[in-house]
Amino acid sequence: MARNMDRIVSGVDAKVVIIGCGISGLSAAHRLSKSGFQHVRILESTSRSGGRIKTGRLGDKVVEIGANWIHGPSEDNPVFCLARQYGLLDPEALTPENQAIDVGANPPWIHNVFSSSGRKLTSEEFDPAKEMFCTLLEESSEFHSGGGEPRASVGDFIRSEAKQQAAEKWKDVDENTRSLRMCVISNMMKEHCCVNGTHSMDEVGLGAYGLYKTLPGLDCTFPKGYEGLIENLMAELPSGLVTYNRPVRCVRWNNKDKRENTLTVECDDGERITADHVIITVPLGYLKKHCSALFSPPLPLHKLHSIQRLGFGTNNKIFVEFDSPWWDAECEVIHLVWEDEDDVVDQVPDLQRSWIKKLFGFTVLKPTERYGHVLCGWIAGHESEYMETLSEQEVTQSITQLVRRFTGNPTLTPKRILRSQWFHDPWTGGSYTFPGKGCSAQDLENMMEPLPTKGSQAQPLQVLFAGEATHPCYYSTVHGALLTGWREADRLISHYSSISPSLPKSNL
Ligand SMILES: Cc1cc2nc3c(=O)[nH]c(=O)nc-3n(C[C@H](O)[C@H](O)[C@H](O)COP(=O)(O)OP(=O)(O)OC[C@H]3O[C@@H](n4cnc5c(N)ncnc54)[C@H](O)[C@@H]3O)c2cc1C
Repeated sequence: MARNMDRIVSGVDAKVVIIGCGISGLSAAHRLSKSGFQHVRILESTSRSGGRIKTGRLGDKVVEIGANWIHGPSEDNPVFCLARQYGLLDPEALTPENQAIDVGANPPWIHNVFSSSGRKLTSEEFDPAKEMFCTLLEESSEFHSGGGEPRASVGDFIRSEAKQQAAEKWKDVDENTRSLRMCVISNMMKEHCCVNGTHSMDEVGLGAYGLYKTLPGLDCTFPKGYEGLIENLMAELPSGLVTYNRPVRCVRWNNKDKRENTLTVECDDGERITADHVIITVPLGYLKKHCSALFSPPLPLHKLHSIQRLGFGTNNKIFVEFDSPWWDAECEVIHLVWEDEDDVVDQVPDLQRSWIKKLFGFTVLKPTERYGHVLCGWIAGHESEYMETLSEQEVTQSITQLVRRFTGNPTLTPKRILRSQWFHDPWTGGSYTFPGKGCSAQDLENMMEPLPTKGSQAQPLQVLFAGEATHPCYYSTVHGALLTGWREADRLISHYSSISPSLPKSNL
């Protein structure tokens, strides 16, 4: 029998289906349940909760296959507040000092730098280039409000400015040092391909780059794994709320046939579920590939264009364990600088032969007492996607050659490795969102706009959109994703409290 929206006077009766059980779907369900909604259901395509929050093991060590840090752990970060409430953090992360440190997007990591000729670089070779790069990156953030950006992409801007400034500022520096400094800038570009989850900084729009906002607090990790956050939230949901292994094939909305429900969710196995509201939380990578099949009728054009314009690329990790360290005790990040890259490049010429050149370096898992000697290599882009197709043995071989070459030590041998493969995950199709060329704040607004759009006579709030790609300034993060889940839950809560003010206030 057709459900009629007119007879639903409170959220208690409303049937809400959430698609995807990552942090955004989970936080939406959590808030709705706590606010008295009794018919909330999550449909998840895989056999687990958490999505891109995924904790794994390297031997007996806990490692993060997906999200790694709480970015900006301080009072305004809901992930930090929940993790603190659930007792999931080390005491150091909880200190007021840690919360007050404001480093923007540049963590003050202690580095070791090695070059492709097997030499450790000096600060004179590394620091001036790093400084120039960081200044240019900061400048790249300044165009979003004013418009009139001089170049289309962050990559174009940094490349042209760096070349010009190097010729002026470093004109008295000897040719070899200057060339090496430009190679360092290439290394930084590759690092920021990882940070942004893009193939190349040439794909990141200069006009929208500054939309991303940081929070104060020195990034911290979950000692027992990020999935602890998911487990604690799950434990507070009514049991049976999540249905696993239930991919959704199509959301039929705005159905005008009076004999049928306005809104139906069709699963891969053919099951059809009627609903009053659907919250979509699938990743942008999935939407880019499947949005024409996922919605009937299709999404409005402005939404489709924003899905296309926003970027969604790949950033993968390769964990590597060694018997003993070849880096300094205090070192937190290792940069690997190729000496033939003084043209400011962040892509390799031949994917199959030289994909490994895209790996910018490693972060060191700390503290050593917990992790032993484990590094996390970072690699973005098509090179990273190609790496996913290789066997673990082939990846290990390339990593071994790489560290031997850069350290000049021909005996270094990894004990074991583990890598992520986010591009080939059929439910994700990459890692996270970045603003592509030509993007603006309007694209993120379009992403979060519910359907039918304002002004329509049809039943309101049929399809709502959450997930990291729908946050106006914290896209690509866990806290951004979590906030979007709350935002869409609140949209429904305030919708129903305007009809019938009897719902209890959310007690999150
Ligand atoms: C390598 C990597 C490192 C990262 N590091 C950090 C970090 O350090 N700090 C940070 O804050 N963020 C980080 N992130 C980003 C962070 O993980 C994400 O922004 C966040 O987890 C996204 O949550 P979400 O709910 O939006 O999406 P997801 O977690 O992707 O959840 C979406 C869910 O939808 C499901 N789904 C997809 N299609 C369907 C379908 N048709 N039917 C049913 N279900 C479907 C998926 O299986 C998935 O469970 C990282 C991500 C990656 C990949």
